[in-house]
Order: sequence, then structure tokens, then C-alpha cells
Amino acid sequence: MVLTFRLTEEGRGAFNMSNAPVIDLHCDLLVYLLMNKNASPETKAFGAGFPFLKEGNVKMQVMAIYTAVEEASSRNGVAQSEIYKRLLTDYSADIYQADAQFDSSNDRIGIVASLESASGICNEEEPLDNAFKNLETIISNVERLFYISFTHHTENRFGGGNYATAGLKPDGEALLDYMDGREIAVDLSHTSDALAHDILDYTYKKGLKVPVIASHSNFREVWDHPRNLTKANAQEIVDRGGLIGINFLRAFLNNDDANALLDHVKYGFDLKGGEQAMAFGADFFYTGDFPDPARDPYYFPEHEDASKYHGILNQLEQDLTSDQLSRLAHKNVERFIVSNWN
Ligand SMILES: [Zn+2]
Repeated sequence: MVLTFRLTEEGRGAFNMSNAPVIDLHCDLLVYLLMNKNASPETKAFGAGFPFLKEGNVKMQVMAIYTAVEEASSRNGVAQSEIYKRLLTDYSADIYQADAQFDSSNDRIGIVASLESASGICNEEEPLDNAFKNLETIISNVERLFYISFTHHTENRFGGGNYATAGLKPDGEALLDYMDGREIAVDLSHTSDALAHDILDYTYKKGLKVPVIASHSNFREVWDHPRNLTKANAQEIVDRGGLIGINFLRAFLNNDDANALLDHVKYGFDLKGGEQAMAFGADFFYTGDFPDPARDPYYFPEHEDASKYHGILNQLEQDLTSDQLSRLAHKNVERFIVSNWN
């Protein structure tokens, strides 16, 4: 793989890395607050705690409503949307609801919710009608969902997750039909290859107005892992005007080489049109709930919390122009918002 970048003199230096605004497409703060009743977002026990977001000059943070495939999934989904709503009131000095007029020069952190697994609107047993009722409840609590990921690692009623083989199921088709024209992207970060294929095929054939993104995914050509995007799916996301958020988890970068993060970013910029799509989707979650010795540490030290974005941008200065760096840091997400939100 040959990486080619042309650097112009004026391309360098214009972008001030140390104070660049940052937008991140994925963290799991809400489920951390749901599962740990005494926890606060003003913590450094969690990589996307507010102190780290401020240090990293994060100006927009997407907060996922994460649910497993379990009986309580839809209750947990709605409960996280209530936590989100409460955060906006309780921490109004720090955060605000980001909307189509988002401005990265705002002093506070704009937040937007998303759904990480549609199990959060319907467990495996409920009638499908409940999915849409719960979705309406969640949207009324969070105002806007940036994206919906249909699955997580396993299979559910909507389709197959990363470690599953099922494609798009009838309930998944119904959910895509619902999303048509509602300014909610479909997220391919946690799909099986079959589900990614079927979502791309179904939305194309039915002409649905549903943007396609991968909120927190790297590239399989750089590190072969089922959580990472195939070359064809990455290119299709780019071609449809979507976003690809680079994931900071060691397991999805390269178990041993922290610099692989730079290789994933550069690979994304080398895709045809990729410089319009690349973003951050660091995927900070509370690792204290997931004791897995094989994955410890979950992040390399240079990527372990939201204060680290500028260090990463600095490392990329050798390979990317200042324009490309500002796209990665925030401008591509801003472009996406201008194109897709009203
Ligand atoms: Zn995830």
C-alpha cells in the first residue's frame, strides 16, 4: 500500500494544533452513568469525562445509548435518554444540546445522542410497535439522534452484529423505512458483513434518505478484525457522503503498535474522497466494568483519554496538510451536519 500525500508550503502552519476544536463521534458515558449510580461525568475515571473533554478542546461529543441484547434492553435505552436529558440541566455550565447551527467556537461542549444497538428500543420479545414508541420517547428526551447502530457484537431482531453472520431482518427493514428522511444516520460500526451489505443494498434500492456512517471503526486492510471496515464498505460510506470515526481501542488498531492509529487515519485519507469523511470516534468507555486481561490496557497511553487528540494531530503533521488535519479534527463532521441536518 503506497501512501501519497502532497504537502504545500501554505498547507503547513495555518492550522494551530494546540487549540483546534475537536468533534468526537462516540463515547459510552451514558451507560457508565446508568450502571454506576454514584458516578459523575466530572470524573477522570472515564476517558471522556468532562475534565478530559475540556483539556482536549472537544466541542462536540456524541454520546451513545448502549444496550446489550437482554430483557431489560429497551428500559435501559429509555433510561439512558433520561440521563442524557438530566445532564443538560445539571451541567448546563459545561454542555449544551448541539443542533444544526452547531458552532465550534462555543465555549461549552455540544452534545448529541445516538443509539448503539436498536435493542435499546425493543427487546427480542416485545411487539415491534414498541420499538417505534420507545424511539419516539427517546427522541423527545434527547431532541436528536445522530445515528442508530442496529446491532452490537451479537445478533438481535434487527440483524447480525460484528461476531454474527445474520444480515438485515424484516424488523431492520422496518427501522430503515422509519428512518427515511428523519436526519438519523445508520451506523455500520457494529454490523456483520452481511448486515452492512444488506443495509447498503436496501437503502440504495428503496432510495431511502438515510445517511450512512461508521461512527467508531478502523480499517480491516490495516488491522484484520471483524470490528474494522472492509475496503468496499469504507469506500461506499465515503461515496455516500458519510463519516468514518477512527477508533482508539488497542484491539481494533493493532495489539502491539500504537502508531497503527496513524496508519488507519492515513489509510482513510488515501481512499478516493476519504478526506471528506475522516473523523474521530475514540470509543471511550468505562473499562472498570469489563475486566478482560487479554485486552488490558484497553488503550495505548497516548490515546487513553480525550485530552490526547492534539497529540495525535501533532503526530500526523508529517503526513497530512493543515487542511486535512482540521477536517479530521472537526470540519468533516461540520460538513456532514450542514448537509444532513435542518
Ligand atoms: Zn461500540
